[in-house]
Amino acid sequence: MLDDHGDFRTHFVREPSNLRHYPALVLNADFRPLSYYPLSLWPWQEAIKAVFLDRVQIIAEYDEVVRSQREAIRIPSVVVLKDFIKPQKRVAFTRFNLFLRDEFCCQYCGAKGELTFDHVVPRSRGGVTSWENVVAACSPCNLKKANKSLRNSGLKLRRSPRHPSPEEMHAVGRRFPPNYLHESWMDYLYWDTELES
Ligand SMILES: [Zn+2]
Repeated sequence: MLDDHGDFRTHFVREPSNLRHYPALVLNADFRPLSYYPLSLWPWQEAIKAVFLDRVQIIAEYDEVVRSQREAIRIPSVVVLKDFIKPQKRVAFTRFNLFLRDEFCCQYCGAKGELTFDHVVPRSRGGVTSWENVVAACSPCNLKKANKSLRNSGLKLRRSPRHPSPEEMHAVGRRFPPNYLHESWMDYLYWDTELES
């Protein structure tokens, strides 16, 4: 993660409830999480490495201690990057980001759970694979839609699909907190979206 390219964004802990990782919340230099979805959490080894590389400052710590040959150090629970990382300007068109944009629910009937992708304008009718033409869909709606046009399918889109902005993705990501949140992270997380208005 802390390679020579300085890419801090790629390898976060996906299951923070697995506490043997003692995940550290990673904040950008503006004290906002580097990422909300997935929440930017490093395993403790990465956090301590970043401390020794002088790339982060420790904001909060666990009670647990790790020992090196020379010293004992408390495991960081919140770290802040010393250098600001510019947020990405474009949201990559990936399966995951598309599901996230659609809030993990079928864009026709609203069902959650097992989802697939549906081309609004079917590929057989020249529909392309793009933010504007692909939506998350449950299997029944996907089957019902088949190769029909939207109008002939009897289905309605809950909203018209479009390319989301990074801010929109942040906002959606905040609605899906991980199943474990350490108390020391709370000051830096605003899961209550009402705070935004
Ligand atoms: Zn559906």
